[in-house]
Amino acid sequence: MTAFVVAVDGPAGSGKSSVCKEAARRLGFGYLDTGAGYRAMALHAKSHLHLDDAIASFEYEISLDPTNVQVKLAGESVTEDIRSDEVAKLVSAIAREQAVRNQQREDARARIASCDKPGIIVEGRDITTVVAPEAQVRILLTASEEVRLSRRQKDQTEVAENLVARDKSDSKVADFLVPAEGVALLDTTNLSFEESVLALMKEIEEVRNV
Ligand code: C5P
Repeated sequence: MTAFVVAVDGPAGSGKSSVCKEAARRLGFGYLDTGAGYRAMALHAKSHLHLDDAIASFEYEISLDPTNVQVKLAGESVTEDIRSDEVAKLVSAIAREQAVRNQQREDARARIASCDKPGIIVEGRDITTVVAPEAQVRILLTASEEVRLSRRQKDQTEVAENLVARDKSDSKVADFLVPAEGVALLDTTNLSFEESVLALMKEIEEVRNV
């Protein structure tokens, strides 16, 4: 059972994946990207007529190593495939389905419990509120829309219109734009990558050192 859980939510393009990965590396923690699970489900569901069948036959694996995140479906690597434009366009609709959310929530909880590192950073949209509301550290990591779009453009992962549409749709399912009670807001609009990593680590160390 993992002793220390850091829950981080936030919109697309906030830079939270890179920041969480780097903080996990420096702390020797595990790292769980819950968005990868929804993306893998979207990819898997493409070849199924009924969502129930897709959920029942979902054989998903993800490594908790922040330096080497590997994603597999039925033993085959889909680490790159889940980052495609096609998946980015499909994923929000899949993530709206309650049966998918239930499956993903339980999957994430089981992975958190199985982590053998001293702690784990878990990032997504509903980690602070639904997946791990009891986490020792709970953070909402944001940045202005302008900055988020420019950060995404730099890694050329997604077109602006889709990112904005995805956030709009996702925010109807989980409120990751306003921090829930007890959740700290980390606004990285004016922070460099390094400053963002240090700010996240500071939040973690403050709780760890009590
Ligand atoms: O984090 P990422 O942008 O890869 O997430 C992909 C999609 O997965 C989101 O747009 C959202 O629809 C869904 N998601 C979610 N809840 C989470 C993580 C991701 O609904 N905890």
